[in-house]
Amino acid sequence: MSQSTLKICIGGGGAMGSLFAWQLWRSGAQVHICDPWVEHVQAIQAHGLQVDYVHGQETATIHASTDAHDIGTCDVLMIFGKFHQTESLIQACQPVLGPDTLILTLQNGLGNIEILKQANPDHRLAFGLTTLTSELHGPGHIESSYSGTGETFFWPLDGQITDTETRLCGLLSSAVGTMTLDAQIELRIWKKLVINCCLNTVCALANTNVAQATSTRSVWQLFENIISEIVTLASLKNIPLTRDMALSYLSQVCTDAAEHFPSMVMDIRRGKRTEIDCLNGAIVQQLKKRGIRAPCNETVTSLINVLEARA
Ligand code: NAD
Repeated sequence: MSQSTLKICIGGGGAMGSLFAWQLWRSGAQVHICDPWVEHVQAIQAHGLQVDYVHGQETATIHASTDAHDIGTCDVLMIFGKFHQTESLIQACQPVLGPDTLILTLQNGLGNIEILKQANPDHRLAFGLTTLTSELHGPGHIESSYSGTGETFFWPLDGQITDTETRLCGLLSSAVGTMTLDAQIELRIWKKLVINCCLNTVCALANTNVAQATSTRSVWQLFENIISEIVTLASLKNIPLTRDMALSYLSQVCTDAAEHFPSMVMDIRRGKRTEIDCLNGAIVQQLKKRGIRAPCNETVTSLINVLEARA
């Protein structure tokens, strides 16, 4: 594989996948999008990827295909589908995997890395998170209204940092935001999990933005109960997440992202399946396996399921 240009396949070029494709394209990587959505791929092929962002608009000339065979072996495969798509996505992207390909997931929630490991136990895997946000406006068109410094963190599952991880960090850091290798990745992921389990769900149930959903005192009691169950599971998994740490991070995000409508609000409005199964649903299931009930997360999961069924 080339030492000069990193070849990257974005598996699932929706809102987030396209955002990373654009950033990587800007920083000089050889980027390919693999996505089964025919209209989206055709629009990117015909007109490029249209990106609206805080400083204007840009068109990125990126190769896209519905068939991973068209892409060939890559240095990195970045997985960017929703949780329920991860299984089919990794199967669809098998043709881009060579013996040294790094598979990286920055998806939200719990369980994606396990699905990827099961599909490709002999491949190098990495996992992490990003604070960037993006929205899909239609085929070939995304908007990234994020105005802060986007932060992305990841860490290889085997703890071995190779040239591929280092070069990927360099590429993304030279584009929007920063990309950092962080050995404490699990704690970061669990802190983001707290945000998603509290804010995505309550905003989706209330059909409001963060500020409106968090304005009553009683909702904070609900957050404390959700967090208490998350912290119980975290301690069983040796993740050093504490109640105070979770609450203080939640308060900070409520201030910083007051006007934000979390993606679960948009999923429900659009009649799309949410990622509840890898958020509150995962807390319920993983505690259940250990003989522990999680009544608060169970109630929230059921209520989101009702909204999904209605849609
Ligand atoms: P999305 O629905 O916009 O995009 C998912 C894409 O995956 C779609 O284009 C879909 O066609 C594609 N896909 C489905 N099955 C596939 C397959 N078998 N092969 C290839 N592609 C396939 O979702 P999103 O908002 O981009 O979210 C992706 C992940 O990123 C989720 O885990 C989400 O939690 C996470 N995330 C999103 C944001 C955001 O602001 N959108 C922020 C942080 C994290």
